[in-house]
Formats: sequence, C-alpha cells, structure tokens
Amino acid sequence: MSRLSEEFTVGSVRVAALSDGAPDRPLGGFFHGIEPAQWMTELGITDPATPLPFNFGTFLIRDGARTILVDSGYGAPARTMGIPGGGELLERIAELGVAREEIDSVVHTHLHPDHCGGDVQEGDELAFPNATIYVAAVELEFWLNSPEAPEDRAAVAKQQMLPYQAASRIHTFEGEFEVAPGLTTIPTPGHTPGHTSLMLASGGEHLLITGDAAHHPVHFEHHDWIPGVDLDPAESTRSRGRLSALAVDRDALVTGGHFPILTLGKVRRTAGGYAWEYARKVEA
Ligand SMILES: [Zn+2]
Repeated sequence: MSRLSEEFTVGSVRVAALSDGAPDRPLGGFFHGIEPAQWMTELGITDPATPLPFNFGTFLIRDGARTILVDSGYGAPARTMGIPGGGELLERIAELGVAREEIDSVVHTHLHPDHCGGDVQEGDELAFPNATIYVAAVELEFWLNSPEAPEDRAAVAKQQMLPYQAASRIHTFEGEFEVAPGLTTIPTPGHTPGHTSLMLASGGEHLLITGDAAHHPVHFEHHDWIPGVDLDPAESTRSRGRLSALAVDRDALVTGGHFPILTLGKVRRTAGGYAWEYARKVEA
C-alpha cells in the first residue's frame, strides 16, 4: 500500500496529495489492446495479474488566500470497497489542520464516481458547504443530461452535483480558465467529454495535474495505450499528445490522482516521442 498523504510545494504554493483509498491492483485494463508482454516490460513485472500500487487521489492546493480541492474521491461508497484508506478523505484533510468549511473551491477533472463521490455526504449534506464547484460546462451537461452517459455513473454524478446546483454553487467553464491566480484548466477530452487537467504556476515552477488523461506515467510515453475506461480513445490519445508537449514546454512537474503518493516526474522530448523521468517515485 502506498502512502495516503504527502505535502510538497510549487513555488510558494503548498500542495498536498491526499488519497481517498490506495489499493494494490492489476493495471492491465489501462493498456487496452496492447500485448501484455509489451506493457509488462514497461511496468517491470512478469505476470499481468501482479498487483501494483494504485491510488484514488485528490490534491489540496493552498496559496495563502485560497484553499482549493482538486477532485473528491469515491466518498462514502469506498468504505465498503475494502480498499485501505477508502472513504477517509475528510480525515486526510483534517490531519492537515484544514476544516472542510475552509475549502472555498472544488475543481473537478471530470465527474466519474471516483473523482466527485466525496462532494456530498450521506443525507445530501454538502461535504464542502462553503465551496464553489468548478466543472467544465460540457462535462456537467453530459452527466446530467445526455442519454449517452452510462447510467450508473450518471446517477452518481447527479447525486453529487444536484445539491450544489440547487444551492447555486456550481461554476462551469470552457477551455482554459483561471480558477485562481496561477491555477488554470487545460481541456483534455477523451476519457470523458469535458475532461480537464490543471496547470499550477508559482514562482517560476509549474505542476501539471493530469486527471485521468494518464492513469500511469507510462501513458506519457505511449499516448495510444488506451485505458478501457476512456469514452473516446482517439480523442484521449490526442489529449495525451498535447499534454506531453505542454509538460515539456513548461518544464512542469507532473502528477496524477491515480499515481501512487507521491509520484512526481517530468516529461522529456526524445527522438521518437516523449519519455517520462521520475523526480519522486514510490518505494516498491
Ligand atoms: Zn479515475
């Protein structure tokens, strides 16, 4: 099991990687249609069923003025899923000395159950009563109103979003949008229609939070290794390409909610494409 919480800084901004559950599980589903021999080599394993550290992660960003949560984990359902640390995000936040009432914004990379499930507590109580929810307009529209949205997942998104909508606490955005000074949304559709990554800039340093545009760092090297959960594989492949170029361009540290805590790396351009270089790696 990987860690459940770790803090680091980007310029003068404090960032905490917080887990809402960190199971070990086989990752083969993230490399759809790719020969196991190929991706097993990249992951350093010899049996495709080998459990590897996985994470249902979120990030708490504090710049001294704002307290911003990126995604909210599975929430209550994770407590019955038998995953270490599952459904304990509010405890992780409290351990930092932050009250949930202090969180002024929750930014969603997308509205899958493992990313927005912690917005509302049992009984429809807002888990973050003073927060504005930031979500891409197309993402909210898809999960609330599209007949093409998978029904079970749409039910969770509705359950989580409607109480905030009723309280007029949802702010939708399109394209690149500055949530707070130095924190900008980057559209990376494909995994879901309005999937969004985030770029944080402070003091000349950059942090790219991928969301589910990458489930594993190896996705930065193989843009067409498609997670089976991507709704539009061609689009998500293109998004990984754009994100890789941006990471190189800004010399950004890169992390993702599903990477074990704490995983930080940089993307480098190579002759044939891109390479991932670890800056911080979880000990095996
Ligand atoms: Zn996810």
